[in-house]
Amino acid sequence: MKDILVIGAGAAGIMAALTAAEQGAVVRLFEKNNIVGKKMGITGKGRCNLTNACSMNEFISHTPGHGKFLYSAYEQFNNQDLLKKLNDWGLATKVERGGRVFPQSDSAIEVRKLLYRKLCDAGVQLHLEEPVKSVCFQGDAVVIQTPSGMYEGESCIITTGGLSYPVTGSTGDGYKFARGLGHTVTELKPSIIPFVTKETWPHGLSGLSLRNVEGSLWKHGKKMAAYFGEMLFTHFGVSGPIILRLSSDVAHKKKCIFPMQLRINLKPALTREQLDARIQRDFQKYIRKEAENAMKDLLPQRLIPIVLEQAGIDEKSLVNQISKEQRHDLVDTLQALALTITGTRPIEEAIVTAGGISVKEVNPKTMESKVCPHVYFAGEVLDIDAFTGGYNLQAAFSTGYAAGMAAAGKEDRT
Ligand SMILES: Cc1cc2nc3c(=O)[nH]c(=O)nc-3n(C[C@H](O)[C@H](O)[C@H](O)COP(=O)(O)OP(=O)(O)OC[C@H]3O[C@@H](n4cnc5c(N)ncnc54)[C@H](O)[C@@H]3O)c2cc1C
Repeated sequence: MKDILVIGAGAAGIMAALTAAEQGAVVRLFEKNNIVGKKMGITGKGRCNLTNACSMNEFISHTPGHGKFLYSAYEQFNNQDLLKKLNDWGLATKVERGGRVFPQSDSAIEVRKLLYRKLCDAGVQLHLEEPVKSVCFQGDAVVIQTPSGMYEGESCIITTGGLSYPVTGSTGDGYKFARGLGHTVTELKPSIIPFVTKETWPHGLSGLSLRNVEGSLWKHGKKMAAYFGEMLFTHFGVSGPIILRLSSDVAHKKKCIFPMQLRINLKPALTREQLDARIQRDFQKYIRKEAENAMKDLLPQRLIPIVLEQAGIDEKSLVNQISKEQRHDLVDTLQALALTITGTRPIEEAIVTAGGISVKEVNPKTMESKVCPHVYFAGEVLDIDAFTGGYNLQAAFSTGYAAGMAAAGKEDRT
């Protein structure tokens, strides 16, 4: 019977431990928190976006951080396999907009509790509140050290997560263990993270969300990326779905590219001419009004002074005194409201850590280290990261499954 040590009880570690135990291995799962799946409990704004209903190819394309590395893991255990397992265990699920899959109950805590019960049922020996301090080898045995003592195993699966949301336990310990075992850890960067702006005006608009806008990032006059959807002003800059998505593009640039310009097209559905015609209609309607009062059909009230200022129009000007050139400047501003992005919020606030244990040094079929046999890695500790939409949890579950199978000696090594 195989003796397996698993370090970290997040999505990856839980799935690895369960899988190995179901294959008959003796499994000890070490977790520094007093519960399993603490981060899972806060995912999807407390609803846990478990996975996505899309195809495997879409999973890969939504994973800018080494998506292709995941092919083998997804072949062994994909979204349907995950949902079948969870459904068989009594968790009802539902599919929402964009293929996002949630528990029917909208409760991440339900998922966490279910997985805890399954770990107990499978006979996994849970070592809660027992942080692992070191991982090394003594002869053929892997030895880990915790404050309570030393444990030996035939193999060890490291699933300690990334660096984001350290209050959930992911404080980067796995990188230290991996380096000690001779692994390369690629640069760690925040991904899916809000941006900080140089300008302070977004602070005053904190809480204002804009729908159906396009946000694009520019460097030296060159467009780097653009997304359409929703964004939000905050007390430090900008956030919301399109900003988070842009941050993932930034995380995958080789060099630091801050500062950058963010341009917000507030009316992306209209051409320049259509927008100009629309403004002229509004100005006709509010002909005796001041500019600030003539824009209320076009923009949220709080944004009007900002747009007028960027366009160089005094908000107190009467609309019939606004020149054609000024109106054209207004069109330009509405289609490219500019902000200087100076950086991101700290990595601790990222949804996911980009970078990690180099996937070049890990067998994609088994998740076993190529540097140090009998050591396996799974989940966010690896240099993999995806967009929002359930892709990150699925990657953790799938790599955890592959590692659990391999460590238990049941993987297909052909
Ligand atoms: C706010 C937020 C919302 C998110 N929402 C979603 C979502 O809805 N859908 C989605 O797909 N992804 C989401 N993600 C991303 C997703 O949660 C992670 O990618 C995923 O949890 C990674 O799983 P993991 O098992 O690799 O790591 P983690 O879940 O971070 O688990 C690692 C575990 O290892 C433990 N550990 C660390 N070091 C040690 C040690 N030395 N000894 C013992 N234990 C240790 C930690 O305490 C932790 O429990 C979200 C992330 C955040 C921060």
